[in-house]
Amino acid sequence: MIATKGYAANAATTPLAPFSYEHREPGENDVLIDIQFCGICHSDIHQARNEWGNALYPMVPGHEIVGTVSRVGSKVKKFKVGDLAAIGCMVDSCRECASCKAGEEQYCDRAETLWTYNARDKKGNLTFGGYGNHIVCDEAFVLSIPKNLDPAAAAPLLCAGITTYSPLKHWGAGPGKKIGVVGLGGLGHMALKFSHAFGAQTVQFTTSANKVEDAKKLGADEVILTKEAGWHTKHAGTFDFILDCVSAPHDITPYMALLKRDSTLCTVGIPETPVQVHAFSVAIGRKSFAGSAIGGIEQTQEMLDFCGKHNIVSDIEMTSFDKVNEAWERVIKGDVKYRFVLDLKTL
Ligand code: NAP
Ligand code: ZN
Ligand code: ZN
Repeated sequence: MIATKGYAANAATTPLAPFSYEHREPGENDVLIDIQFCGICHSDIHQARNEWGNALYPMVPGHEIVGTVSRVGSKVKKFKVGDLAAIGCMVDSCRECASCKAGEEQYCDRAETLWTYNARDKKGNLTFGGYGNHIVCDEAFVLSIPKNLDPAAAAPLLCAGITTYSPLKHWGAGPGKKIGVVGLGGLGHMALKFSHAFGAQTVQFTTSANKVEDAKKLGADEVILTKEAGWHTKHAGTFDFILDCVSAPHDITPYMALLKRDSTLCTVGIPETPVQVHAFSVAIGRKSFAGSAIGGIEQTQEMLDFCGKHNIVSDIEMTSFDKVNEAWERVIKGDVKYRFVLDLKTL
């Protein structure tokens, strides 16, 4: 077994605390990764605090993982010792159903998507994520990071990156399209970078006056401060697609009115409470309210390669384990530009 140390949540209301545990001995298809960096995703907080009602403790969060391969099983083909490797939100799936075969392992038809943490594998063992110094994973779910990218700033691509890249691709963000991004946090700032890189006209919506100038630098053609009266009138009926990246409950009705006929607002944000959609807001204009979860393994590699080619990484603030609870509080307040990354050396 692989002795591992990290930080875990032991209950919904207690802070993260040091925790020792074990990962399985690497099998013939497995790689052992010595984790160097792990991003802090708002989903870590939702789950550790049981805001989604699915918490399993002890929980070692973290699904934006980058590290060095330190051991490979006898049948591993893609990786060798010393390679930089990455893991996102899932570590396995059934690999046989229609969704898995279509490269959409996150939507496994048999509900066997195995999440990187806060899940149980087939043997009943809890999975443990990136807030720890090792992880063991089948190479089929391990990604490669382009060599030109800074490994720490690339870590958030493994969740915030793919979660925004995938729906923007699915709904056709590109030249001639007008795209809205709601919320400038970890996901939102990646959505903005991707939409801009895809050549779409991109409008950022934010509640934070202190992010307006940043949003322009990150690629927004226009920034709408939603605290200002009448903010929702100017663009009515003009958007081809809106991606909602907000972590907290908020009213989506005004955003539905910004869409063109037959267009979609997709939420990737997953607040604690249900989203309310008035039937009129979708009926008038035959509009759609949709959702999307991360992206498949093949598309995650495609996204990483796209980032390598276009030099896209996350804007990060490095942090350490002694400050991890403070970092979480700052994420909740929207006080991070734009993703915290834990340095595993500080463990
Ligand atoms: P984050 O960094 O905390 O960003 C959330 C942003 O939402 C904030 O920066 C803020 O942007 C805005 N916001 C916060 N409170 C708000 C409120 N009360 N009203 C309006 N806007 C508010 O979070 P994240 O890591 O990007 O994650 C965002 C959400 O996506 C979370 O719910 C997370 O669980 C979810 N998620 C989903 C998937 C998936 O596969 N679907 C994957 C990863 C994460 P402004 O300051 O610009 O207003
Ligand atoms: Zn995440
Ligand atoms: Zn499957």
